[in-house]
Amino acid sequence: MIKKSFFGLVLPQFEYERLPAVLPEPDKVPASNTITLLHETSGEKSPAAAIKIGDKVKTGQKIALFADQPTYVVASATGTVSAMSPQMGDYGKTYSAITIKVDEDELIDDQFENQARKPTLEKALEFLAVAPGCPPLGLLTDTDQPIETIVITGVDSDLMIGTRQYITNTRLNDIKDGIGILKEISGVDRIILITGRDAMQGFGHIGAEVKSIDTTYPAALPAMIMKNVIGEVLPAGKTCEEMGVCFMSVEAVAAVGQAYASGRLPTRKILTLINKDDSQRLIECAIGTPVGDILSRYGIAIDAEDRIVFGGPLTGSAIYSMDQPVMPDTDAILVLDRSKAAYVSDYPCINCGDCVRVCPSRIAVNMLVRFLEARQYEEAADSYDLHSCIECGLCSYVCVSKIPIFQYIKLAKYELERAKTAEETDV
Ligand code: SF4
Ligand code: SF4
Repeated sequence: MIKKSFFGLVLPQFEYERLPAVLPEPDKVPASNTITLLHETSGEKSPAAAIKIGDKVKTGQKIALFADQPTYVVASATGTVSAMSPQMGDYGKTYSAITIKVDEDELIDDQFENQARKPTLEKALEFLAVAPGCPPLGLLTDTDQPIETIVITGVDSDLMIGTRQYITNTRLNDIKDGIGILKEISGVDRIILITGRDAMQGFGHIGAEVKSIDTTYPAALPAMIMKNVIGEVLPAGKTCEEMGVCFMSVEAVAAVGQAYASGRLPTRKILTLINKDDSQRLIECAIGTPVGDILSRYGIAIDAEDRIVFGGPLTGSAIYSMDQPVMPDTDAILVLDRSKAAYVSDYPCINCGDCVRVCPSRIAVNMLVRFLEARQYEEAADSYDLHSCIECGLCSYVCVSKIPIFQYIKLAKYELERAKTAEETDV
């Protein structure tokens, strides 16, 4: 819930969503006529002939387009590949969009069944990297930066979302199984489950330490959990993994548990649908379901200049097509009426200082933004704490000049990373 002072004299308070004690089941979205799976590509390569238009696929079948790349998708329905096309994502990401025309009769792929009998980290990575919640299993295999602690986030990272909270409260057996498997395959003994302050009951035998956090945003972001729960302040420019801590959503852990208990790859996603009037409902759908099918099921009409966002109001990303599919890490779809959508303006910074006051990293955002607007990214990093930003989005939200500060920050970090990678490749 967002409480904003009408007169803007007091900075807004931001509280995470709190679900009622009795939770309604997520509404199950019926199968669509088509689903689309976004297979990550490296940009330059064209897909090998691992799959082609006209091929049949089964639910739970792994589809890998490149023999020499670890990336793949998992079919969330049974049907026939009807289209394949390149698609651009945010910040330089490229995909091959694989569309499957869904059959009425479902056939389940059994490739994973044998692997489930003898869990190993290598096989988990080979089959579960795109399970609901996207378990970051690759981080557990990196011997250069060994992981000593796994933090399971049972709280949602943005406002108005109840997805992780719901899973934490209702899928204890899957979470417990997932924790057991993660300990077995990774050898990591310290696992911490993060819950909200008022939801600490019933986790006695879960196999993890249970810690609660504040209900005020941005307490659930990894950098804040590092500081307030692990007791380590994340140095500027360092990642949690470099500090030996791997963050994983509770849905990812439940998916690991469910996969090994059932011998099947999970392919359905739970998410929070937030309508234009701020009403929320939990829904469950196949990964790859087009957003347009979900909106039409709930009678949500999109008018000119309305906005559809994947994620929450502070850190989500706008999408521009009703064909955009639900991804394994889509925790929310937020529909904003055009009267509420914050449009970027041409107004300059008026030095009001609101962004500085609201920033949890104490960054001089009013100065930082000047260098970001001028694309002086190295100066922004060296002199104005760009890398101390924990990407909470609060500065953009409060900015009276509607400067897209958060987007500038993400772009700057992406460009600096790209330049660094290019330099390393040239050496
Ligand atoms: S997104 Fe903005 S408010 Fe949040 S940490 Fe970064 S600079 Fe500070
Ligand atoms: S960037 Fe926006 S919020 Fe920050 S000082 Fe300038 S006008 Fe105010």
